[in-house]
Amino acid sequence: MLYILKHQLGYYARKSLKILNIILIGVILISAIILLVYKPVYKVEFLGQNLGYIKDKDNIEKTINEYINTKEENIAYIILDEEPKYELKFIKGEVQTSEEELLLAVKEKSNIIYRVFAISLDGENKAYVNSIEEAETIANEIKEERGLDLELDIGINEIYTENLDIQSLEVAKSNVDEEIQLKESSVNGIALYKPLKSGVITSRFGSRSLGYHTGLDIAEPTGTPIYACNSGTVTYAGRNGSYGNLVIISHGNGVETYYAHCSRLLVSEGEQVEKQQKIAEVGSTGRSTGPHLHLEIRLNGEILNPQNYLYK
Ligand SMILES: [Zn+2]
Repeated sequence: MLYILKHQLGYYARKSLKILNIILIGVILISAIILLVYKPVYKVEFLGQNLGYIKDKDNIEKTINEYINTKEENIAYIILDEEPKYELKFIKGEVQTSEEELLLAVKEKSNIIYRVFAISLDGENKAYVNSIEEAETIANEIKEERGLDLELDIGINEIYTENLDIQSLEVAKSNVDEEIQLKESSVNGIALYKPLKSGVITSRFGSRSLGYHTGLDIAEPTGTPIYACNSGTVTYAGRNGSYGNLVIISHGNGVETYYAHCSRLLVSEGEQVEKQQKIAEVGSTGRSTGPHLHLEIRLNGEILNPQNYLYK
């Protein structure tokens, strides 16, 4: 009796072992099939948005860290509003987002703070450059060129900004120059530059015993270049009675400049001219007693005293 029981127990034990084996093999097989179909990947989430799936979590973390620590192109620092989140997932089939794509998505949502240098006039920033050296070069050149004529305070400010609006040395200098000119010598929002680099004022604007002098006379030898007070359209270029050879430029906003008694005209009617472009040469044509430039400034047809703006 005991023997039969033992025998039967042994039989059941062996049978259960067999069943267990079958179950184990089944589980392994099913797992293998699942792993063949479903791949482990990391879901990358950033600022509540699913950016994609990636196998190599360490590598993408390293790439993002490298990006955050970028120090080129005036980047002071890069701020992510939060760390990207990684979640292990089993996804059917090959789902993998490229690292470039992920990095691009992170870049788009990051805040880049740039460090630039501003050149300021009376505390107001007017132009932005790469380095303090460039800013100093511009400030020094302007101070040197304008000397005592510079009535404004020129300074340099270190700026941290999200907008990278850097200008080349040349453009930045020209912008600052234009701003100075606008503040110191402008008519109705049009900056005016000197048409002659030097010269002697021989007759001022205003009443004369023989009538009214409508401009400013500056004596210079025949052939001296005359430069446009600013950009604009040539509305007249030719002979004009007592003016002799005359150029009229319309600068917009109702502002016109007249250049009279020229020996040579280098522009023609309808032409667009640049700021400080050479437009004519000093002469003594028309009613004139010697080579000089007769300069007029007009606003909406009204004749202004040039010395309120230039050669003050
Ligand atoms: Zn005159």
